[in-house]
Amino acid sequence: MTDKSIKCPVTKKCGGCQLLDLDYDKQLAEKQRRVEKLISKYGKVDKIIGMDNPYNYRNKIHAAFSHDRKGNIISGIYEKKSHRVVNLDNCYLENEKSDEIIVTIRKMLKSFKLKAYDEDTGYGFLRHVLIRTAHLTGQILVVLVTGNNIFPSKNNFIRELRRQHPEITTIVQNINDKRTSMVLGERNIVLYGKGYIEDELCGKRFRISPKSFYQVNSVQTEILYKKAIEYAKLTGSEKVIDAYCGIGTISIVVADYAKEVVGVELNGDAIKDAIINKKQNKADNVRFIKADAGKFMKDMAAEGEKCDVVFMDPPRAGSTEEFMDSVIEMSPEKVVYVSCEPETLARDLSYITKRGYSMKRAVPVDMFPMTVGVETVVELEKHKK
Ligand code: SAH
Repeated sequence: MTDKSIKCPVTKKCGGCQLLDLDYDKQLAEKQRRVEKLISKYGKVDKIIGMDNPYNYRNKIHAAFSHDRKGNIISGIYEKKSHRVVNLDNCYLENEKSDEIIVTIRKMLKSFKLKAYDEDTGYGFLRHVLIRTAHLTGQILVVLVTGNNIFPSKNNFIRELRRQHPEITTIVQNINDKRTSMVLGERNIVLYGKGYIEDELCGKRFRISPKSFYQVNSVQTEILYKKAIEYAKLTGSEKVIDAYCGIGTISIVVADYAKEVVGVELNGDAIKDAIINKKQNKADNVRFIKADAGKFMKDMAAEGEKCDVVFMDPPRAGSTEEFMDSVIEMSPEKVVYVSCEPETLARDLSYITKRGYSMKRAVPVDMFPMTVGVETVVELEKHKK
């Protein structure tokens, strides 16, 4: 299904779309093979779920700002393995409206005589722009990441940006004054609107702040969560743990099918969003705890706590032996592992399948078309005694 007429002019420099030249069906076959090679020794892998339209799916986009040799402002992606910015007007993965807003901001910098930040000297104004669009509600968050808290002609700039893009619902200035490759700094100043967006997933409403994690492909996230819930086979009487819960999406979606849910997450901003999300969705049987997932599980296991189902959705580095040892001690009937990195998933499966759990089935979900990335949901079941 890949559209052969699509040729990206910066694909070599960017390197983000490793599979852009491959037919979409072949991309899916390739991902299926990769996941099977790594995990089919533990159990059955169902057919990968792809997208009907595998383009422009990213709801979060980020552009770096810099100058070219002639001093013109440029914005786009970093060249592979470097901090050289490659100028870019649109990207086949990114939300199209967000790309348009970035181009507008680039042009506005020139007319407002503002400079891009210079990583070498630490001078200049704008470092990055981050845009989040809500798939269902259409809300748009624009984060202007600046090198310090000075914002020349701030009010006029915001007024003009909103005039050109009335669809923007909120604008935040984020101050990043550190010599770092991290995009966002600590401080946020809300310049317009609420400072966050709200989106809907699986019939629930979620607040998403600039620094909270939110799945980048909303269409596939619903499919992913539905698979995770199907695998958990909840009946309404279970005590559930949702580890690495982000803004509480899985917790709140499964709350309707369980007795009680505890979500655990390390990022403070995400936990604040999660607590508000719980209230807004009237999910009274859900609690959120800010903690390292491994440490939290260890404490729970040490206190002799039990649970029936564990959802775990760790970052790319995967989970830890501390976490899995505690899961094994708490002995839930089911563990549903949602993974964004098959290599670390395979490593963790190798550990847990030797210690009382077996993989019943798994399904890859293509959350990242045109790239080598692939998400996988795995159902693990406690060995029957
Ligand atoms: N389940 C969520 C988030 C998954 S992303 C969703 O579907 O949206 C992984 C999350 O793990 C991120 O929110 C990240 O902040 C969190 N995280 C990373 N390391 C962690 C740790 N050691 N303990 C708890 N949470 C962690």
